[in-house]
Amino acid sequence: MVVLFFSLDRKDGVNHMHNKEKQTDVIIIGAGLSGLAAARTLKKNGNTVTVLEAQSRVGGRILSTIIKGSILDLGAQWVSPHQHRIQTLIKEFGLTTTPTYKQGTSLYSLLGKKKRGLGNKPPFSPLSLLDITLIEHTVKNMLKSIGPAKPWEVPLGQKLDSLTMETWLDKKMFSKYGKAFYRQVYEEGLCGRLSEVSVLDILWNIKSTGSFNEYLSAEDEWITNGAQEIPNRIAEELGNNVLLNQKVWRIDWDETEVKVYTEEGVWFSKNVILAIPPTLTNRIVYHPPLPSSRDQLCQRIWQGSVIKCVLVYETPFWRIRGESGIAFNNYGPVKATIDGSNPSQKEGILIAFVTGEEARRLGELYKEERKIQVLNCISYLFGHEGLYPKEYFDKDWSADPWARGGYAGHFPPGVLSQFGEALTKPIGPIHWAGSETATEWRLYMEGALEAGERAAIEVIKKLT
Ligand SMILES: Cc1cc2nc3c(=O)[nH]c(=O)nc-3n(C[C@H](O)[C@H](O)[C@H](O)COP(=O)(O)OP(=O)(O)OC[C@H]3O[C@@H](n4cnc5c(N)ncnc54)[C@H](O)[C@@H]3O)c2cc1C
Repeated sequence: MVVLFFSLDRKDGVNHMHNKEKQTDVIIIGAGLSGLAAARTLKKNGNTVTVLEAQSRVGGRILSTIIKGSILDLGAQWVSPHQHRIQTLIKEFGLTTTPTYKQGTSLYSLLGKKKRGLGNKPPFSPLSLLDITLIEHTVKNMLKSIGPAKPWEVPLGQKLDSLTMETWLDKKMFSKYGKAFYRQVYEEGLCGRLSEVSVLDILWNIKSTGSFNEYLSAEDEWITNGAQEIPNRIAEELGNNVLLNQKVWRIDWDETEVKVYTEEGVWFSKNVILAIPPTLTNRIVYHPPLPSSRDQLCQRIWQGSVIKCVLVYETPFWRIRGESGIAFNNYGPVKATIDGSNPSQKEGILIAFVTGEEARRLGELYKEERKIQVLNCISYLFGHEGLYPKEYFDKDWSADPWARGGYAGHFPPGVLSQFGEALTKPIGPIHWAGSETATEWRLYMEGALEAGERAAIEVIKKLT
């Protein structure tokens, strides 16, 4: 291996002398929640770690900002009471959560009509409600036959991986409103189309939460202090083990060692954990190249298209009218809204999600034009007052070079059953983390924590 390093050094003409300060037990790429959780676990075990983060901040797809005294989350925000890792950190760091406001009526704007319903019950005909109940029953039954780890290994998993969610839903559901509702909910969650994913992709995500009911609790509360506090506090603990502005572009590896290149220098270790979205792992140069199964897996996973918008109003005017602020919409760019008002402030905060092709369309507009289109849609949903927020913020996650989309990565049909194994299988000293690799609460902040801890344990077992 030493010979390999020497010849490489001579070829690229850079002096990559073995610098002791740049040698650690484990290098972690990415200071999102997953990379930070991996680093924390390793450090607690007595290992030395270096976290290399491309951006000038930690948190990745978590991004809170404080504007005029309000804490606003432009990335991940909600947590479930059933997510034990993140709940433990919330307590440990002395943070608090706010229950999501769900009082009053929610808006169902589907098939060109606006209807209001109380609680979780959509205001549909008994036949459409029966259709929804039956599909949920079918999903719950199927969940019994697949496991949270490697669900493609069982015959049902193989079958579900051969179908798009679009074809399956079309076949299984019979009511116009039932279908429109399910399509709207899942397409918003994917930030893409149902025709782009296998049934297994969606069922695996649900299974990983524990149960269908736990899955529905994912937006039950949000971190009042801003979700960013969690990565910030972990990074504080790690101190100068976290290095910012370090864009990893190349990894040289053999069975025993890795050499990680950023624009600033080269780091050495025995193991590396990549805690970044799978699609971004393919933008790094590997020497020697990774096995084709890993590379081809990452050619097939896609990150959704999403713009998260935060609208700050003088008051939560929808509440005064007996509305929850929750809307499901398939007309216009905003596909879903939810109330994110802080109970200790008089302002009303409405969070709006623009997803899928609408996110790509709005992403190409000037910010001001984008804002107008979002506000027009909000006023279609909530009336004239929706046009006049005192503050408007948005973030296009697909345009972020260090995320390239959100909320997370998804699999078209045929991918998990052929390449699923390569998602987490270590390659020599290279290990994989990130919420996309989780088996508990996949694709959520909780999943990012679980995946980081799992990858760290893999490495610890090798080191001991
Ligand atoms: C708009 C939006 C809303 C969401 N809402 C929720 C929610 O309410 N609740 C929830 O639980 N989840 C939510 N999610 C999902 C959640 O944010 C993610 O699942 C989770 O934060 C992913 O964490 P991670 O550490 O796996 O990856 P990331 O957060 O993506 O972290 C990866 C890090 O790696 C860095 N990086 C990438 N490439 C390189 C490189 N080459 N070199 C060095 N560093 C690199 C990035 O800069 C980034 O900091 C949301 C996501 C989005 C986009």
